[in-house]
Amino acid sequence: MGEWPIPEHQVVDHLLIYQEFRCFYCRESLWQPEQQRLVYHVEHMTPLARGGLHDWRNVCVACPGCNIRKKVRTSEEFTRAVG
Ligand SMILES: [Zn+2]
Repeated sequence: MGEWPIPEHQVVDHLLIYQEFRCFYCRESLWQPEQQRLVYHVEHMTPLARGGLHDWRNVCVACPGCNIRKKVRTSEEFTRAVG
């Protein structure tokens, strides 16, 4: 099922700080000034559909656009496609 050494929402908080509140893929800011809030998806780098685990080592935060574009590709496949 995956491992969560600290509660999942705390992992997400750490990820946001670690990624400087930017999308893991396109590096766009996740802060939406119009909405005055952070808008992001918690993203599985190896999708669950591809055998990825719901695990702290397999998640990042991404903007909704990248998450939708990435679909069931792994982070490596996606980075190669856009990079
Ligand atoms: Zn993005």
